[in-house]
Amino acid sequence: MSTSAELKQQDNFFIHPWDDIVKLGNNKRTLLDRGEGVYVYDSEGNRLLDAPAGMWCVNIGHGRKEMAQAVYDQITSLDYVSPWYMASGPAAEFAAMIGEQSPGDLNNVFFTTCGSTAVDSALRFVQFYNNVRGKPAKKHIIAHRGGYHGSTYLGASVSGKQLDRKYLDFETRLIHHIDTPHPLRKPEGMSEAEFLDACVGNLENMIAEVGADLCAVFVTEPILASGGVIVPPEGYHRRCLELCRKHDMLYLSDEVVTSFGRLGHCFASEEVFGILPDIITTAKGLTSGYVPMGAFLVSDRLVREIKDLGGDSAVFSNGFTYSGHPVAAAAGIKNLEIMLREDLFANARDTGEYMQEQLRTLLEIPIVRDVRGKGLMGCVECELIQGENDLATDLEIGKLIDRYCQANGLIVRPLVNMCVMSPPLTITREQIDEMVAILRAGILAASAAIESAESAPQDGHRQPSPAA
Ligand code: PLP
Repeated sequence: MSTSAELKQQDNFFIHPWDDIVKLGNNKRTLLDRGEGVYVYDSEGNRLLDAPAGMWCVNIGHGRKEMAQAVYDQITSLDYVSPWYMASGPAAEFAAMIGEQSPGDLNNVFFTTCGSTAVDSALRFVQFYNNVRGKPAKKHIIAHRGGYHGSTYLGASVSGKQLDRKYLDFETRLIHHIDTPHPLRKPEGMSEAEFLDACVGNLENMIAEVGADLCAVFVTEPILASGGVIVPPEGYHRRCLELCRKHDMLYLSDEVVTSFGRLGHCFASEEVFGILPDIITTAKGLTSGYVPMGAFLVSDRLVREIKDLGGDSAVFSNGFTYSGHPVAAAAGIKNLEIMLREDLFANARDTGEYMQEQLRTLLEIPIVRDVRGKGLMGCVECELIQGENDLATDLEIGKLIDRYCQANGLIVRPLVNMCVMSPPLTITREQIDEMVAILRAGILAASAAIESAESAPQDGHRQPSPAA
């Protein structure tokens, strides 16, 4: 058994997501040992409240023995089944269970390996659909500049975050980005209704610019998660869906973060935002991160159209060795069983509202510029010089707050000048009080340290990873 010092050394051989390759070999990440409920424990035995639930994913909380048992049972009975030639009980059962939870006629499930491959495969399905129905020119994709949709070439190209674009290449021919519908960007004096019109107008203008006959799909997260928990103005998704319908475009709702309870329902598109998309992507909470898995759900309507127009055969030549992996599916079944048995969606509705209320009390701290979110997705945005909105000055504040919070027993996810929270759905009101109290102290300490140019406690701490 390696010691934790040896493990930290060995971790230098692991290129982490968003790693700074120039600094490779100088890793200072916290080594986590174990988890239980909403808490994780580091290699020094410190208990940390896991406010981001790993990476927006450990929805049922850490350390569930019955998940381990379900995975063990599946591996010891049948470890793998080729999804090309055979069917497996868990994948079939899980697809049917997801169909029961999904809105409207989104009954058809394509399993993938993670969120990125779910988005990638869903976009390939859109291309496939338009080819089958004889509209091969209809291929252009519209997405948000502040959106994040994954790390495959296509998923990353659809993502719009500019900070991630410095050293990598992207597909640009078929992809167009519009402004993020961020309520903080509403110009002074503009009414809510006018702002909504302007945001929807951005999509309308882009469709006109590209040409409706070339536009295939609008891709958006219901709440832009990694972009900073941006909740679009009320009615935005509904109006965008209407535009898609008008122009014969599909609406892809990327629910990799918002599905499986984060907003108090299994899927958020219909229950929270009142829309029935053509395609939904999911991952993360799908298995609560215990085993990797993603999926996209496609409506009966699209499948029916393909059947009607596809002649004798229309093969969707896309898939993975691990599509519908029986072990992941068994974990998914157990995960959903736990969520339903413990009524975790209702708990998320209740504690979600409480978390938003409590986070809003942080607005009294001078450097807190905005507190926003919905359900169990929250974001506290800081600004060092009021009204300046100067990202360069604010760049370090998230990291600093994270360090102070971690020293006091809380992981928050630093995203530039924002702290992002998405705790397990099992979180209690008392644990939310604990989370907000540590965060308050962390923000105050960070702002005092910056004011007096003191240095923050030196870490053992994570590096920020601005995406995913
Ligand atoms: N889509 C959204 C909305 C996400 O937030 C993410 C990851 O954070 C992805 C897709 C990609 O998921 P994964 O990291 O599982 O590939």
